[in-house]
Amino acid sequence: MADIVAITGLEFMACHGVYESEHHNPQPFIVDIEVEVDTRSAGTSDSLSATISYADLAADARAVVVDGERVDLIETLAEKIAERVLVRDPLSVTVTVHKPGAPVQETFADAYVRITRPNPLAQRPSSAQRAVIALGGNIGDAQETLSAAVEDIRALDGLRLLAVSPFIQTKPVLAEGQEAQDDYTNGVVLVETELSPLELLDSLQAIENKHGRVRTERWGARTLDLDIIDYAGVEADHVRLTLPHPRAAKRLFVLEPWVQIEPHATLAGTPISELIRDRRSQA
Ligand code: ATP
Ligand code: MG
Ligand code: MG
Repeated sequence: MADIVAITGLEFMACHGVYESEHHNPQPFIVDIEVEVDTRSAGTSDSLSATISYADLAADARAVVVDGERVDLIETLAEKIAERVLVRDPLSVTVTVHKPGAPVQETFADAYVRITRPNPLAQRPSSAQRAVIALGGNIGDAQETLSAAVEDIRALDGLRLLAVSPFIQTKPVLAEGQEAQDDYTNGVVLVETELSPLELLDSLQAIENKHGRVRTERWGARTLDLDIIDYAGVEADHVRLTLPHPRAAKRLFVLEPWVQIEPHATLAGTPISELIRDRRSQA
């Protein structure tokens, strides 16, 4: 049973409704949002970034009910709110939209719609799915760290390692003004997994942490980076996970090891051999 973060009774005045009169006379819409999350890491680290803030949930409701386009149905409001909240990567979200002033002749206590939507990135697939994981590191003995990380990946439950690329040495790709860094060791592994995309991300982050990964500056030097490049062609742009990896198509340090173990692979529909050609011609 997952933990719950919720905010209830959020009240907004707005003009949603089927009737013309409702389009001009604001009435109250009351929103409750409940997300299923695992709050254990937030509970032990006391860090807001490890959970979902109810202030953000309130902002999602306001963005739809007050700042969004006028709609006829509270079903639509609920769906749009759920869609926004799911980007924050809960396991699931339940949204209730009440319309206590709904135009109904009878006396009534409340009128509402309640919907529950699972997060597709938190769903375990019904059969094993292929995923591509990129490994990189440039602190310490990176060859050794990457080899150990491959063994850690192999040891994960719910996952089978299908192929491991040779490791390559690459020059760091630095952001403007960023300090020089040592060369990187990079590799790619292909796996088949019954883990959900978010479970896979959690497992890989646990392996990064085990190998002393610390996140200070963006794109800073690191002992180990494990990125999900592709998970069964799933496309998603969520707070914790973007699929396919949004920068992989431009990274030779990902594409070159990958093509060695899967020459005909595609990334978001484009053969990676083509992506490599494009990239090399720009270099
Ligand atoms: P880049 O994403 O450009 O390769 P990075 O790997 O150095 O940068 P990290 O510090 O490892 O960035 O990750 C930052 C956050 O990116 C992670 O906490 C994770 O939630 C998120 N993230 C989003 N999409 C992915 C993905 N496809 N694979 C791994 N992490 C991802
Ligand atoms: Mg990375
Ligand atoms: Mg990363």
